[in-house]
Amino acid sequence: MKNYNKIHQELLASNTTLVAVSKTKPESAILEMYDVGQRVFGENRVQELTEKHENLPKDIDWHMIGHLQTNKVKYIAPFVKLIHSVDRFKLLKEINKQGDKLGRIIPCLLQFHIAEEDTKFGLSLDQALEFLGSETYNNMQHIRIHGVMGMATFSNDTEQVRNEFKRLYSIFQTLKNAYFENCSTFVEVSMGMSGDYKIAIEEGSTMVRIGSLLFGARR
Ligand SMILES: *Cc1c(COP(=O)(O)O)cnc(C)c1O
Repeated sequence: MKNYNKIHQELLASNTTLVAVSKTKPESAILEMYDVGQRVFGENRVQELTEKHENLPKDIDWHMIGHLQTNKVKYIAPFVKLIHSVDRFKLLKEINKQGDKLGRIIPCLLQFHIAEEDTKFGLSLDQALEFLGSETYNNMQHIRIHGVMGMATFSNDTEQVRNEFKRLYSIFQTLKNAYFENCSTFVEVSMGMSGDYKIAIEEGSTMVRIGSLLFGARR
């Protein structure tokens, strides 16, 4: 937890939300951060997320940040505060269906593929523009899209990383202008991790997802 206070102060100054990425870390480590005031935690596996949600204080906001299988949406739908990783529209359909069952509107971000690596998940701008204009989307009453998410290439080339974040920010602006002009909740740009969050903030991030810098390296 050694960097928590420093990072927390930095993010306060830039009005950026800290998602503390606690994947693979024990509940005791989460509680330690909870006790100094952190409430937003991110996980990338459904089973780990549901177990931690069950065992830990109920006022934690749990964010799903990892690739999500359609058949597992039902396990997190009752409590998840934000799904960052909507990388295909079939998934959004299922989230909407589960939201309908629960009488809940589930907040989501659209994940875009901005990195060079093709191992990373995400939509293209064209796919999103087409989908957001569709009747299928307009009939979805139980999801709300709060913004976009992306992961930059894992690289020491800071100019490349910066350009990828610029790209995500421009995708956000394009979608906002096209479909969310008068929407007060389409506001989030989730970008930046331990290695690149400072660049992400300079490029307009509203939400950074930081794991190893807060909790130590994962094995
Ligand atoms: C693990 C993970 C993070 C945090 O990575 P760190 O480099 O440990 O900060 C952020 N976003 C996603 C989607 C992740 O899977």
